[in-house]
Amino acid sequence: MENSRKIDKVVNLAKRRGFIFPSSEIYGGLNSIYDYGPLGVELKKNVKKAWWDFMMARKDVVGLDSAILAHPRTWEASGHLDGFTDPLIDCKKCKNRFRADHLLEKKGLKPDFAKTKPMDMKDIKCPECGGELTDVRQFNLMFKTFMGPVEDSASQLYLRPETAQGIYTNFLNTKESMRMKMPFGIAQIGKAFRNEITTENFIFRMREFEQMEMQYFVHPDGKDDIFDTWKKLRKEWYLSLGLSKENLRFREHEPDELVHYASKAFDIEYNFGFSESEAGFKELEGIHDRGDWDLSRHQKFSGQKLIVKDDDNKDYTPHVVETSGGVDRATLAFLIDAYDEIEGGRTTTTKSVKDAEVVLRLDKRLAPIKIAVLPLSKKVELSKKSNEVYDSLVSKYRIRYDETGSIGKRYRRQDEIGTPYCVTIDFDTLENNQVTVRDRDTMEQDHVVIEELESYFAEKFN
Ligand SMILES: [Zn+2]
Repeated sequence: MENSRKIDKVVNLAKRRGFIFPSSEIYGGLNSIYDYGPLGVELKKNVKKAWWDFMMARKDVVGLDSAILAHPRTWEASGHLDGFTDPLIDCKKCKNRFRADHLLEKKGLKPDFAKTKPMDMKDIKCPECGGELTDVRQFNLMFKTFMGPVEDSASQLYLRPETAQGIYTNFLNTKESMRMKMPFGIAQIGKAFRNEITTENFIFRMREFEQMEMQYFVHPDGKDDIFDTWKKLRKEWYLSLGLSKENLRFREHEPDELVHYASKAFDIEYNFGFSESEAGFKELEGIHDRGDWDLSRHQKFSGQKLIVKDDDNKDYTPHVVETSGGVDRATLAFLIDAYDEIEGGRTTTTKSVKDAEVVLRLDKRLAPIKIAVLPLSKKVELSKKSNEVYDSLVSKYRIRYDETGSIGKRYRRQDEIGTPYCVTIDFDTLENNQVTVRDRDTMEQDHVVIEELESYFAEKFN
């Protein structure tokens, strides 16, 4: 199935089966904010764990968890206070709000509002009602908040728009406390906030979102090789967790779209299937050469020396190669890629199965529930045995216990949320102490003695 056909089905499944809910839905929702439900939180945690384990397995990378709030000078140094803006324009008649650059892009123009004066917009009318538009205003995307009881500019802070800056401001502390040798990286997962004017596409562009970023500090010589290595490694990571090759691609930024500090940037793009973008491909993660912009700016604004010594004992400011991925985007990509629908169903034994059957073919490491324990009926003897099985496995795996509905329906419920294995306890189990283990993808069934279940699954999840 084409991803453009999957996206609506995935959005529907995500809500119906407890992966992702619109935030504060009982109050009508909050635009572009989403909550992760019971299965979504497991899936997202598994995505983050896979990334964290991948980073922490390296001798040259250490972790960090910096605060969401930072000294306001941080955002002066980083350039966010002046430069992190979008050009905003309103319709005087219908009051709709637009990105001025988006309106010009639709006319085939490519304006750069950050570097030049806003272009004359007088020929552009409101795309909704044809009304007259206001002047272009620069709108900063950082969320403001206040520290302490007085709401004045002295106590004004910002919710971080990216996690990277917390890594730069902790560069020296981290290097010295961990006695890291150059080159080395600092990895961090955390929330970031951007007050986007236009939001779109489910959890793809949210105002509150989560990043997984790694900043790798290098000597400028040899930086290109390191860049290429990370570029390759990061794409392989997505492939190793099940994204299909044909839905992933690299896209190099054109010279005119590079942000001011970057000298080279590649996006890993995934084919989300959103209709308005070319072939549905959109950014999943960026690999950026940020030069020495970050550390030299923080050095200038803080007055602290952020330098290291090279082999000849000469001081230099490290350059940064960054890998910056979106946790929510990755989670969505894994959901879309795993989604499979079988017309008419996979099973022919039950007459009632005529509808399309959904199987979420998530990698076992990402599946929110690893094992479902299913007693054939609610009979007391079966419940007792089934609870024994549940208790014997629950310290190692995330497990669901489900005893309602026909066994066929319960299998399909588990297939739909990507549970790799179902363990069924029936009346034979009471005689021979054997359970039936069903595989999500092959539907093959193994008979396993209860005492051997632990080693059976240890092998399956290895
Ligand atoms: Zn209008």
